Amino acid sequence: MSITDSLDRMNKPNKEHTRIGIMGGTFDPIHYGHLVIAEQIRCEYNLEKVIFIPAGTPPHKSNLRVTDSKHRYFMTILATITNPYFEVSKIELESEEVSYTIHTIEKLKKVYREDTDLYFITGADAICELDTWKNVERLTKLCKFIAATRPGLERSQVDAKINELKETYNASIGKIDLPALAISSTDIRNRIREGQSIKYLLPEPVEYYIYKNNLYKEV
Ligand code: ATP
Ligand code: MG
Repeated sequence: MSITDSLDRMNKPNKEHTRIGIMGGTFDPIHYGHLVIAEQIRCEYNLEKVIFIPAGTPPHKSNLRVTDSKHRYFMTILATITNPYFEVSKIELESEEVSYTIHTIEKLKKVYREDTDLYFITGADAICELDTWKNVERLTKLCKFIAATRPGLERSQVDAKINELKETYNASIGKIDLPALAISSTDIRNRIREGQSIKYLLPEPVEYYIYKNNLYKEV
């Protein structure tokens, strides 16, 4: 049993259904935007833990260059290590196929008890594209979604999209408003390429890992 497992057990709230958060992403690199939304949602929704799942070959980014999965996995471990409620799963990295969320959620449903509630955590940009995801109808039956606001998107548009998804798929989609965290992996990668500082946008060990491994230098 890992340290995280034993801490999880000690802190397990006494309630009927276990609630687990799933934070999927490319994490190229992971940054404070990801960490803050995961922690806020964990607390607000009383989640037992949040599992960070770096995407193997992300379907929506298959035509773009994505950093080696080994590096994205290590950076996610480094970023989450100080939070006993955060875990990292290799489930999508071990598969050769394109990572579709439906396959990941189906696998997790087999690992956890039948009555476990899975909460898929996304940013507002990702939830607005939900109806392009594979087997979205079945996906919305298997897990609930929680979307965090993200700068750059009109709140009213996001609300309208969430309502549309709820009606079309009878989906459970919650929303949380967070102080604007205008951080993105794209911006971090651009800053490195241009020799600008990335300090305070992501945890320091991740920053050092990036420099040590010469990541994001090439166009
Ligand atoms: P990229 O710029 O490469 O797309 P990203 O910063 O969007 O990177 P992803 O790995 O694509 O990071 O995002 C994983 C999930 O985290 C997505 O659901 C995304 O919407 C969400 N997310 C990322 N950054 C933020 C943020 N600053 N605020 C809210 N949600 C965020
Ligand atoms: Mg993104």
